[in-house]
Amino acid sequence: MSFLSTAHRQVIETITQTEHTPFFVYDLDGLLAHLKPLTEQSVVKLWYAVKANPLSKVIQTLDKAGFDFDVASSGELNQVLKQGVCPSRVLNTGPAKSKRQIQHFLSQGVRTFVAESHNQVHWLNQVACEHNVQLRVLLRVQLRWPDGEKNPLGGDSLTPFGLGTQQWQSLDINDFEALNFVGLHIFQWGNMLSTEKLTELWSQMVPPLLALADDLGFALQVLDLGGGLGIPYHERDSKLAWPQLLDALANIKAASGVEELWMELGRFAVGEYGHYANPVVEQKQNYGEHQLIVAGGVNHILRPAVTNQAFPCELLRTTTAPEQSYLIHGPLCTALDHLGRHELPQDINDQDWLIFSQCGAYGFTESMPYFLCHELPAEYVIEHGEIQCIRPAVDASEYLR
Ligand SMILES: *Cc1c(COP(=O)(O)O)cnc(C)c1O
Repeated sequence: MSFLSTAHRQVIETITQTEHTPFFVYDLDGLLAHLKPLTEQSVVKLWYAVKANPLSKVIQTLDKAGFDFDVASSGELNQVLKQGVCPSRVLNTGPAKSKRQIQHFLSQGVRTFVAESHNQVHWLNQVACEHNVQLRVLLRVQLRWPDGEKNPLGGDSLTPFGLGTQQWQSLDINDFEALNFVGLHIFQWGNMLSTEKLTELWSQMVPPLLALADDLGFALQVLDLGGGLGIPYHERDSKLAWPQLLDALANIKAASGVEELWMELGRFAVGEYGHYANPVVEQKQNYGEHQLIVAGGVNHILRPAVTNQAFPCELLRTTTAPEQSYLIHGPLCTALDHLGRHELPQDINDQDWLIFSQCGAYGFTESMPYFLCHELPAEYVIEHGEIQCIRPAVDASEYLR
């Protein structure tokens, strides 16, 4: 199995004829074809979690496919509005909503919020009163399980996302004249690849959430399950099937009795539609290991250092040379800059490019681009079969002062 199709290989070969530094390429045609069936159903309303990939062309593609938008900062909001999206189609989640940020969101016309603390509820109400508007508000809940697992999103650990059910109990929803409390939001597990496991987690959430809504005195109209749908990063990983997930979601919807089920998708929406192309600087041997030093590392794709999980990697050039095991290292002067262990042909040299796949989500904007003053990667798209450069590589001289 390969994560790199022949068509994508050809596109990347074409780009490397003129590009000499690392770049991302996103297949918008493939993305649109993948997204359309996701929204063609009436079980779950889908928002796009913009942090997964905020590139203009990616947002435009999600818009075409019928997604609305979940943003977590003024920067993300501005980027979405700049693509012509109506603010009524924007949802604001995130643990750090300052009063100043709330002011900005209301002045831009956003009316739907996930509140993650008592202060957020108070500030949303205060600013909404000043603007003389009514807001739709969901409360974000953080649950704990006795036999919990760890997860990059927190899983069972204490996180800044929302509050426990006990902490929400003291909220008197009648104190907030400008807020309509319509639902609850919960999201604690990322990159899940099993429908059974997701169903089990979601099912466990329903009773405590229904009890909380009841205690607070509002009807649970909306249940927002966040994101967390995974994609394979390794050949042995399984893949989620959307029809099966929809069945599971329909059951959760029925069990909770809500009018609307919401999810904000990031990884599952866009993750499989991006590649990161990376020139090889050199190959060397060290303490019995083969090492490859490449031009781009965690300055462009940080995720392997955060999750300890590599992106799948292939050599762009086809060769019949046998494979060997390599450790791949980026250009930064820190051992953190490690892109994993990979089986690749023995004859790799300084003319070669490595292609990392499944990089459509949590790629460039999750990285640490300024460390050591390398260039920012270019971003290309394939749209209607044409290659287009959306942002050329940016030299350090352009961002250093
Ligand atoms: C990041 C995020 C998502 C998207 O998560 P994925 O696992 O990428 O789908 C959804 N909801 C919220 C609130 C998030 O912060």
